[in-house]
Amino acid sequence: MFSGFGHKFFNLDGASTHHIINEIGYKHALEKTKKNGFPGIISLDLNSGYYGPDGKWSKKFSRVSHHMYNPITDQGEAINNAIDAFKIAAKDLDSDNRLHRKIAHFTCARGLHFVVDGLTPAHHYGHKIHGVKGPADWYDPHWNHAKSPHYNILFKRHGQFELMCAIYMFFNTKKIIKNYRILRKHRSIDPFDNPDHLKIFLKKKAIMINQTQVYEKFLAGKKIKEQIIKETFPEIIHAVEIYIRSLYLLAATQKKHGRFYIRIPRPSDIKRAFLQVLVSKKPKNRNPVWEKYFKSRSRKNLENNRDNTGQNS
Ligand SMILES: [Zn+2]
Repeated sequence: MFSGFGHKFFNLDGASTHHIINEIGYKHALEKTKKNGFPGIISLDLNSGYYGPDGKWSKKFSRVSHHMYNPITDQGEAINNAIDAFKIAAKDLDSDNRLHRKIAHFTCARGLHFVVDGLTPAHHYGHKIHGVKGPADWYDPHWNHAKSPHYNILFKRHGQFELMCAIYMFFNTKKIIKNYRILRKHRSIDPFDNPDHLKIFLKKKAIMINQTQVYEKFLAGKKIKEQIIKETFPEIIHAVEIYIRSLYLLAATQKKHGRFYIRIPRPSDIKRAFLQVLVSKKPKNRNPVWEKYFKSRSRKNLENNRDNTGQNS
């Protein structure tokens, strides 16, 4: 899937589909959960894009077959890579060794990258080329490995599909979140406590997305925007949420490692803080009766809000 413009200075360019999917999945999985050393969204952001697997791939360090998964033939390593990363992260997120914990943070973002790659319809095409030792070890009729990623994004169907999805994601994020919440009501969000079961879940999800034929429709020149927004993205986000929930369950980062986590505010934090200041203005009139009234009202509001969020989650 589209990883942004692949530039070290624009790693967080806001156009990367991987970043946005991770953020939505993460917020649904863990927003109100104590992190206790579990990677925050910013950690996932920083280890994605140019500093994630696609950066290495564009510099031709990483094999193409590692980013692909053909659900018909079960070839391509994307989902296996996601599970390998899961196992490392689950073991080391709570390690006493600081370097191991750092690697586990990186590995978590890496695993999520491969979850999304393995479920992206354009990554379900082609087959492994045997005997090739270099990075271009996968035959994809719609991607030319001899040319740059930018060339492929402009002129080849695989790249065009991902760019199109990125544009849909960028301009319809709110709609996609809304659709995801609808889908989520009909899906289990229970985490897996066994990586092998998670692997089966991801492979089944890949088959399911593949069967929707959205990429084939795109190749045939049909309009796919509605399907991408209503079905494809919500299904991928569901897998990301389950992956994060399962990792959180197994990593069980109970220990506190006595170091500061500097939380870098995101635009949504600033917006929330701003709204809080505006909304929770106390009345100037210090009349005790009024104060009592406002207190009971705000408590009632709080309870109402809690009920609402209870329904949402
Ligand atoms: Zn990739």
